[in-house]
Amino acid sequence: MSEARFETLAVHGGEPRPTPDGAVVQPIYQGTVFESRPGDDYDDIQYLRLNSTPSQEYLHGKLAALEGTEAALATASGMAAITTTLLATLSAGDHIIAAGAFYGGTHHFLTEQAPRLGWDVDFVDPGDPDAWRSALRPGTKAFIVETISNPLVRVADLAAIASFSREHGLTSVIDNTFATPVLLRPHSIGFDVVCHSATKALNGHSDIVAGVIAGSAEHVARIRAVLNLYGGCLDPHAGFLLARGLKTLALRVRQQNANASALARFLEGHEAIAQVNYPGLESHPDHARAAALLDGFGSMLSFRPAGGVEAAEALLKGLRLPYTAPSLGGVESLITRPARTSHAGMSAEERAAEGIHDDLIRFSSGIESTEDLIADFAQALGD
Ligand code: PLP
Repeated sequence: MSEARFETLAVHGGEPRPTPDGAVVQPIYQGTVFESRPGDDYDDIQYLRLNSTPSQEYLHGKLAALEGTEAALATASGMAAITTTLLATLSAGDHIIAAGAFYGGTHHFLTEQAPRLGWDVDFVDPGDPDAWRSALRPGTKAFIVETISNPLVRVADLAAIASFSREHGLTSVIDNTFATPVLLRPHSIGFDVVCHSATKALNGHSDIVAGVIAGSAEHVARIRAVLNLYGGCLDPHAGFLLARGLKTLALRVRQQNANASALARFLEGHEAIAQVNYPGLESHPDHARAAALLDGFGSMLSFRPAGGVEAAEALLKGLRLPYTAPSLGGVESLITRPARTSHAGMSAEERAAEGIHDDLIRFSSGIESTEDLIADFAQALGD
């Protein structure tokens, strides 16, 4: 099965055969606890917070199949996946290299919570290996990066980051939420731990909050021991919806990519738009790297209208199809101004230094018809 193409893996990967009672769809075990078997010890207990119930084990197998890793865990949210991974990797006095402009919640955690835990964090430019080298110190334990950055959709030299981490004995952690395993399976290029907000494209229907941690059996076992204590487990019903969403992941992501690509080109050619960020555009600084590394350019783009914040607000108001909402990866298109939502936790100065200007608009493409989406933007821009 591991050689199957992604579309096949999404449907059949990690599915037990034969299935319980011949069920074509894996049933939900909503129970909290299961009967002990003779000879069981603590590690054999099947209990929801210990991430060991049959529903959870099923989902873990499916997620590992899709990320191409030995093991995986489902968590209560994307933030639970990221914070639990870091809690399992760093101790007080340790240092972490964080490359890039992160999702606001991750940035907030690294700037406000990490110091309380006694961790030192250095933010570096993911595109500048000299900066990684000068950030390195004896206590450095981990390197964290996002596959496609939020909201400027930059793509760093990820293989170089993974090999730098390996060379220096650092645990490399990557947030693969924007790319999804359809575009890249980061473990295959050397990343130790892959995290996701499964709230986004993996589930894809904007109706659950969930997270994923994937990696070697050894890494996942270490993180799982910490997850069991911090308690960020996923409820079985949300897990059922996530498994259902995963089966259509490839189809959804391909349509979202096609929409984002066509819309990026439309906006780039429009006089009312000053700048468009999409890795599929030749004008994007990381276009060549993204083309070589990724199987598709993603569902996310960002852009700045020529008329500043006022024009940005007018455009959001004029659009009929996308919901103005700060999430991503759903079947419905979503649009937001990061300065007001996902990156509101950063100061205006921090945002400006990263290029996240107040008039920047972020668009998450849904699976609507490409023509209808472009027609909607055209009417909202007054064409
Ligand atoms: N990582 C990225 C790239 C995100 O965009 C988000 C949420 O927007 C998260 C992590 C956090 O995910 P969750 O809201 O599921 O905790």
